[in-house]
Amino acid sequence: MSIKISEIFGPTIQGEGTLIGQPTVFVRTGGCDYRCTWCDTLHAVDSGYRDTWKSMSPNQIMDKIRELSDGKPILVSLSGGNPAIQPLGELIDLGRKESYSFAMETQGSIAKEWFSKLDHLILSPKPPSSAMKTDWDALEGCIKAAGDKNKITLKIVIKDEEDYTYARQAGEKYPDLPLYLQPCNMSPAGMDQNGVDMDDIHRRTDWLIEKITNDGWFNVKVLPQLHVMLWGNKRGV
Ligand code: SF4
Repeated sequence: MSIKISEIFGPTIQGEGTLIGQPTVFVRTGGCDYRCTWCDTLHAVDSGYRDTWKSMSPNQIMDKIRELSDGKPILVSLSGGNPAIQPLGELIDLGRKESYSFAMETQGSIAKEWFSKLDHLILSPKPPSSAMKTDWDALEGCIKAAGDKNKITLKIVIKDEEDYTYARQAGEKYPDLPLYLQPCNMSPAGMDQNGVDMDDIHRRTDWLIEKITNDGWFNVKVLPQLHVMLWGNKRGV
């Protein structure tokens, strides 16, 4: 069994959502069924980068994770691209035997039975500004596949009013799931901190906070990407 890998790096910290600040090793798979306008991980999406992706077995990936964490169990963050494209069930089985835990972020377009093995599933449906269309039935399939709702979080990137309306509808649709709103990072992929427009991120965060407070939307969380604030869009952090 082989898995397309764009990069494996860490330990670093989780930069967003419910696991923010938690030490983790990232396993970024290659390939995505989406092409979001503001994607900041094109190196794991665009077929032009395919030559840089490695085919690795679950054992080889686990060896690398073990090497990076010095053999100490750590949270493994499965990311992409869309990691749901890849056969990751065996890797999760291997890691869990050694007390590693697993979180995965996906847009929710493809459900796999191995989602039930995850400790955390972050579903990140893409709003209108991404130019992608959400398949809510597929997202529902991902929720079902995960089994336990307590391990699911929703995260939605917000660029504009239309995205905000989309997020409100998603919040109403899934009142039982924790929802994080993340201001869109419009700086091009590959920029270091000096190249990232921090003023723009602050403006977008302020705007979002004002929106939710004015609307009395109190069961949602607004969180900018900590890793972008610390390191910009640099790869491998
Ligand atoms: S789903 Fe994620 S990885 Fe895929 S194109 Fe959109 S932002 Fe990029």
